[in-house]
Amino acid sequence: MQNEPIQIIRKIIHIDMDAFYASVEQRDFPEYRGKALVVGGLPQGRGGVVATASYEARKFGIRSAMSSKRALQLCPDALFVRPRFAAYKEVSQKIREIFSRYTDLIEPLSLDEAYLDVTNDKLNIGSAIDIAKQIKQAIKDELNLTASAGVSINKFVAKIASDINKPDGLKFIGPSSIEDFMERLPVEKFFGVGKVTAQKMKQMGLHTGADLKNLTEDELTRHFGKAGRFYYQIVRGIDNREVQPHRETKSMGAEDTFPYDLTTLAEMETELDKIAVIVYDRLLKYNLKGRTLTLKVKYSNFKQITRNQSFTTAFNDLETICKTAKQLMAATNPDDVKVRLLGISLSNFGDIALKQKEEKETGPGDQLSITF
Ligand SMILES: [Mg+2]
Repeated sequence: MQNEPIQIIRKIIHIDMDAFYASVEQRDFPEYRGKALVVGGLPQGRGGVVATASYEARKFGIRSAMSSKRALQLCPDALFVRPRFAAYKEVSQKIREIFSRYTDLIEPLSLDEAYLDVTNDKLNIGSAIDIAKQIKQAIKDELNLTASAGVSINKFVAKIASDINKPDGLKFIGPSSIEDFMERLPVEKFFGVGKVTAQKMKQMGLHTGADLKNLTEDELTRHFGKAGRFYYQIVRGIDNREVQPHRETKSMGAEDTFPYDLTTLAEMETELDKIAVIVYDRLLKYNLKGRTLTLKVKYSNFKQITRNQSFTTAFNDLETICKTAKQLMAATNPDDVKVRLLGISLSNFGDIALKQKEEKETGPGDQLSITF
């Protein structure tokens, strides 16, 4: 076979704090311990959204990005508190300091999540599993919080691994078990597979990695465009993206492709409201405020336009996001058009420079032999 992708083998740890905001609140305020606690917008306010729910609250089905009103319906006894970002940021810096004892190759994804490349660790520990254990222990001892860790040879698998034994988990997926693991993974868990693509895959009878693996690269590209090549690699566990320290966030947003074209302004506004909630939730999670909002509209003929509006002060409240997106939408002459995709993003973050998830593919490189 031609151009078979080569896996670059690294030692990657993905660390994800368990129910971070809620855990910090429960640590700092004993009266919240053992309680269903929701950090985020208050249910009485308009458009309040759950940022993080404690594990006690999750038992009632409360999840991030859910409206706070809905969370209150699910658990009328839940306690709601507003986030204290200054406190989370401070803890986040301390976590980062713990990471930096082991490596300088740290790529934070948010206040509570980061990739670490420990292929060459500073203390010459050598074992990525041991390093992950030590980091978890240090977080427990020094910060009185728990983290989950995923250990593997690349970012994609490490990130999926950290989610497996949550909370306080540690999961290693080694080179010999990656393919088997990927074959059993449901398609919606694959990086970059959104709900429309997942739906399309299921209609094609593709439910797991094993189903995807049956398709050639050409077939995948034919059905899924450029992403097809990425799926072809990732289903074989191949992900050569590097851990990138010091990456700055340029914009953050969300978009949705609809199964049917939207034809009325009312429909478009309904969808914009939903997208705005996702954008709002992400901004909250990454503690970002932007000064420019951009609306993206793709029509059924694939023609695409963007419209933006800038403000003098940075914002991240749901009301401004919704209002601005709808004003921009109304100004595009939305009558007699068919819209297949809408997106909202914020940019111009000023001095706040947290890292984000925008992922980049890198080319194949040399194969290393490695012990975990
Ligand atoms: Mg987390």
